[in-house]
Amino acid sequence: APAQPQKRGMSATLDKIRFIIVVASGKGGVGKSTTSANLALGLAAQGWRVGLLDADIYGPSAPRLFGLSEKPKVDNGKLVPPESYGIKVMSMGFLVDENTPMVWRGPMVAQALTQLLNEVAWGELDALVVDMPPGTGDVQLTMAQQTPIAGAVIVSTPQDLALIDARRAVAMFQKVEAPILGIIENMSYFLCPHCGGRSEIFSHGGARHDAEKLGVPFLGEAPLDMKIRETSDAGRPVVGAEPDSPQAAVYLNLAAKVK
Ligand code: ADP
Repeated sequence: APAQPQKRGMSATLDKIRFIIVVASGKGGVGKSTTSANLALGLAAQGWRVGLLDADIYGPSAPRLFGLSEKPKVDNGKLVPPESYGIKVMSMGFLVDENTPMVWRGPMVAQALTQLLNEVAWGELDALVVDMPPGTGDVQLTMAQQTPIAGAVIVSTPQDLALIDARRAVAMFQKVEAPILGIIENMSYFLCPHCGGRSEIFSHGGARHDAEKLGVPFLGEAPLDMKIRETSDAGRPVVGAEPDSPQAAVYLNLAAKVK
């Protein structure tokens, strides 16, 4: 990932982070949070010091994904990010009740994000992986304006509908001049655990095709897989909990390409 020096010096906190890598999708439910978590763990497995910022202010998922529930401590006026499998995690979900709806206007969302970025004791990091909310809204704009995004990873399912939105996400990052690291096709295929047969439930290959058309790298595929879902739901993402599994290998490969 190339460094973007022009926005350095914006905050002492961000200055200690080498690369800010955002993970985005055009729409929700395509596996962006799952991919973010496992990519973060994959980067850590390759020796990087990694933080994960859950920038989905309205629908945070990192606390659950990483099995964290305690409120972050405050040290020297900064929130201390709880750790899971060596990843420093920060999320709005730590600060608000799970059942409280967030009814905020854009400026409040931008302010919350700014705090999650700057008023957190991230320390020295090689990468801060930012799990973005779906779509192209206030959070995306704030991130682009306030941080030196080293690169954006776009997650899509193989289907047309998800891809149309993914193309929008690509266009948005290009517009704000954030480098696109590439597109990942999630739920790309299904390997039947009983018969070993392969099914392409949501079709296949659409993301690779679109990446080629858009002139951005295609980073690879992750299967639709029971273990990926189960480990995420249990707060033990597969790369952290079962690093030697074939499922973890998929993300370790993707992380190596992002790195
Ligand atoms: P998003 O962040 O795009 O809204 P999530 O990462 O929350 O999506 O994923 C939505 C649901 O799909 C979750 O229950 C998650 O466990 C599941 N999921 C995501 N990716 C996969 C996958 N490759 N295989 C199986 N289940 C997956």
